[in-house]
Order: sequence, then structure tokens, then C-alpha cells
Amino acid sequence: MKHLSVLGSTGSIGTSALDIVRMHPDRFKISALAAGRNMDLFARQIREFNPELVSVFDEDAALKLARKLAGKDKPHIVFGETGYSQVAQLKSTDTVLLAMVGAAGLKPAISAIKAQKNIALANKETLVMAGEIVMGLAKENKVSILPVDSEHSAIFQCLLANKKKDLKTIFLTASGGPFRKKPLETFKDICLKDALNHPTWNMGNKITIDSATLMNKGLEIIEAVHLFDVVPEAIKVLVHPQSIVHSMVGYKDGSILAHMGQPDMKAAISYALSYPERLNLQMNFPDFAAIGSLTFENPDTRKFPSILYAFEACRQKGTLPAVMNAANEAAVSAFLEKRIGFPDIFRLVAFAMEHHSRIDNPDLSNIIEADYWAREKVQSQI
Ligand code: MG
Repeated sequence: MKHLSVLGSTGSIGTSALDIVRMHPDRFKISALAAGRNMDLFARQIREFNPELVSVFDEDAALKLARKLAGKDKPHIVFGETGYSQVAQLKSTDTVLLAMVGAAGLKPAISAIKAQKNIALANKETLVMAGEIVMGLAKENKVSILPVDSEHSAIFQCLLANKKKDLKTIFLTASGGPFRKKPLETFKDICLKDALNHPTWNMGNKITIDSATLMNKGLEIIEAVHLFDVVPEAIKVLVHPQSIVHSMVGYKDGSILAHMGQPDMKAAISYALSYPERLNLQMNFPDFAAIGSLTFENPDTRKFPSILYAFEACRQKGTLPAVMNAANEAAVSAFLEKRIGFPDIFRLVAFAMEHHSRIDNPDLSNIIEADYWAREKVQSQI
């Protein structure tokens, strides 16, 4: 029986993870849950899974939740940054699913690792911001970080039973998002509704916009560099609109192993939770004959310069990846609030990266400062 803490339980990954737990009550027990502000859904989850500890965004949300759960056998309710860390390091938990959105995932990730919890990592921003620190701490504390991101789960699985020294290239696949065929000149006309309409994957708002700008792939490049300890040059991004091949690994003898399946996050989430075993998810295989052909193309970096920004950030390292990430988060939330246009996202990320004075070998406080700096820089340009 695995005892889980789920951070981000009301989000897209969190709810899918709880579906898996619901299907396999003999394998998993929820010991703690953390969410942001969606207290209706959170209260339902608490009633169903009966965790001993829960955390929410702030005191207001905690009071609201306590009222909703009144009269019931309530869990201990905490809130804010310290609350999230308490959930991440709860004594009875052995595996922490980190599925919070954005930079907010970093501190709970570090708390969990220091408390020697195994990590199922959906929050890629953690590794983008502080990959060296996080991977170093994981090694020191002998905890494993299992990827929940479908591409990284695919790469992880293609690396099993092979020697790392034989790896030559990681083919990181991307759906290409909704604007793959849209001419660059018309990007200024893109509205929020179009950008939220992803062709193959069903995800939360932030990651859906990141998929439309291909910044999601940019973040995944940096995530892969840290998770698999490879140089940026070993990663090749391939646009694959059908999203059936979730990524591939090429070896020195010219062999390539690909991981395929339905574009459904459940497979990657369940593998990270049940590794090294596989759970029965009652999922259909892709209907290859109906799909007919799988196609691949190079990303158009003129339209989607985010790929170039990410390669630049992980080549230069230091605080630059954290700046890229924070600038992107700030720009995406401004776009979600309809305060800027779609092409402004690229412009603002580039602007912050160009104006940043990079710090080499940063500690955590340097990284957090760089994150704040980038957000303010972006705000000043809106
Ligand atoms: Mg992904």
C-alpha cells in the first residue's frame, strides 16, 4: 500500500490521479491533499478520500473549507507556503505527487525531498528553475524523481534496460499546438478561446497556453536535461501532431526506441505512482489502421522562438532558466486575463531574458529573487 500526498489535487493531473486511486483502493491510500482555491471540489475530495492533513492557498480558503466540512470528521487544515510544505513532508506519506502549477511547486518539492519522500513530478517548473539543486538534493537524500510529464515518462521507459552511456539522442515530441499551420502574420489576431483549444491533449489553462506557444516544449527540454542528465545538444524536438509517439530515445547503434499510447495523462500518472509495476487502466490502444499515418516535422522556431529561448537558457544555466520560466508565467497570466496579445508572450519572455544579469551557480534565494525580478520586469512592460 502506497501512502500518497497529492499537491494540486483539484487540477487536471490531480483529479486524474485521484481517478487512479479510486480504481485501485487496494494499492493507494491518500494521506494528504493540497489545493488552491476551488473549495467545492476540494471538499468533495476530502469527504471521499479522508486524508489526515489538507492544505489550501490562504487563511480565507481555509475558513471557507472548514465551514464546508462542518459537522464532519474533519482533517487537520493548514494553508499557504508552510501548509503546502507540511503536506509534502507528512510522516505517514511515502510518495508525493507534485501537481501544482508553476513556480509555486518548487518549495514543496524541496520539502518533500528533504523529508526523503519519493516524488512523482508533474510540476516541470521545479526542475526548470532549480534543476541542479533539486537533482542534487534528490541524490543526497536517496529519493527517486519519477516523471509524470508524458514525454519524460516515455523517455524514462525507453531508457529502462539500456545503458545510459549508449544514449545518443532524445527525440522529444510535441503536438505542435493549435497554431502549427497558422501563418506568423496572423498571430496577432489569436484570441484566448483559440489558444485554449488544444487539438490532442486536455489540460489546465496555463499548460494549454504553453502548448500553443511551444513554451511547454521549451520547459520540457530543460526538464529532460536535468532528469536524464544529458547535454542540451542531445535533445531534438520533433513535432508529431497525432500525439501517439510520446517521445523516443536513439542509441549509438542507430536503434531508436519509441513509447506510444493514447494521448491520455492517466498512463504517465499511474506509471509514476505504481513504478515498477503497471496498473490495469482499461485503456484502449490507438487504432493504428484508423489513424493511418504518423507524421513528424521540425518545429518552426521563427513562429515559436520559445524553443530557442529554452535551449539558450539551459546552455547558459545559472538563473536564466528561472527568469525564462517566471517571465513566461507572468506573460501567460496576463494573456489569460486578456491584458496582452498572443505574440506579446514571446516578446516579454525575450525581453526579461535579455535584461537579466545572470548569476552562476545560484543558491535557492538567488533563484527566487530572479523569479521575482522577472515577474516585475514583465509587469513593467505590460
Ligand atoms: Mg508534456
